[in-house]
Amino acid sequence: VPLDLAAIRRDTRACEIVAHFNNAGASLPPSVVMDTVHHHLRSEEVFGGYEAQALVEDDLARARGSLAALVGGRAREIAFLSSSTQAFATALLSLPWKRGDRILVGENEYPSNVHAYAFLKKRHGVRVRYVPDDEYGQIDVDALRGAIDERTRLIVLTHVPTYSGLVNPASEVGAVAREAGVPFLLDACQSIGQLDLDVGEIGCDMLSAAGRKYLRGPRGSAFLWVRQSMLETMTPPVADQNGAAWNGGEDFDYAEDARRFEVFERSVALQLGLGAAARYALGVGMAAVEDRVRVLAAGLRGLLSDIPGVTVRDRGKNLCGIVTFTVEGFSAEEIGVALRERFINTSIVRRSMAMRTFPARDLAEVTRASVHYYNTEDELLRLADTVRSLLENGS
Ligand SMILES: *Cc1c(COP(=O)(O)O)cnc(C)c1O
Repeated sequence: VPLDLAAIRRDTRACEIVAHFNNAGASLPPSVVMDTVHHHLRSEEVFGGYEAQALVEDDLARARGSLAALVGGRAREIAFLSSSTQAFATALLSLPWKRGDRILVGENEYPSNVHAYAFLKKRHGVRVRYVPDDEYGQIDVDALRGAIDERTRLIVLTHVPTYSGLVNPASEVGAVAREAGVPFLLDACQSIGQLDLDVGEIGCDMLSAAGRKYLRGPRGSAFLWVRQSMLETMTPPVADQNGAAWNGGEDFDYAEDARRFEVFERSVALQLGLGAAARYALGVGMAAVEDRVRVLAAGLRGLLSDIPGVTVRDRGKNLCGIVTFTVEGFSAEEIGVALRERFINTSIVRRSMAMRTFPARDLAEVTRASVHYYNTEDELLRLADTVRSLLENGS
């Protein structure tokens, strides 16, 4: 079923004002998401915070169910957190590390993931080994298979990096992980809400994701999905009475579901808003979303490649909605300003966000135009025309 673009754009108030190509940063939420958030904040004002929450316990459970449906997991496997960094680190630090354990990781890691590996190395003597990319620029699955040994405790893959249209072959990595019996953590921060993904099909055991990016949720929302069979091996580094019940002595019994990773105090409004975003995505249909995002992004790459002086920088066999490019003679800042003057939002990715990839490719920075399904062909043309006129007229 094709999606109803007119209805979608009506639901997205800001579409009238801006052409938003910063969906890999934070996308424009549909009004139902922000209405949900505002409504609950108002309810806290009127009834009191705890009293307001008591009124929406069913809605909170439904939000968990909607996220579970989005990834193909179960509601009891979902933990609400406040950023993808927090979700990722919570999963990683909850595992039973021993000195000498090894993690195998792809090359396309986000800086906060790399930080978590550095922490594990310093505190637990855990070693990280990066698996090289293949000739297409995606993780080399054979090299991954070959790198697994008896010390390998975890495989981590970033599904879609923050700085490129690359989609890593997550299901192939999942098959390798299963064959070897090694747990697999997927950073789905950029793929959630843009790709039609399913944890069963991918074969991952843990998945971290943000709300605000392609999922169109509110800022400050994120979640972690953990396969039920992994939960009992995981001890949350931070817990309170919400996820850990005092056993009467000196220890705690952790919640049997993924709520063990949640603390008591969190934003109910954002959690409800995130649930609304998941339902909205399911309502549009993730297969239709993925299709349209890919078609629009391919169209934009085509338009940009036709402009002399523009180089599209995305590598990979399988590309998604993130379009990156450089323009001869212009800094990413200058391009961003020219676009913003015409109400076109894009963003810049610099080396520090692409630590292992940009230096190797001798790239200092790129302009990132991340396309979503609510963008239009006309908006793509406006973006490309602006870049063209910048090259032709200097402004
Ligand atoms: C944005 C991003 C993160 C971090 O997400 P936050 O919600 O900002 O913590 C992690 N991984 C990838 C691939 C990202 O793009």
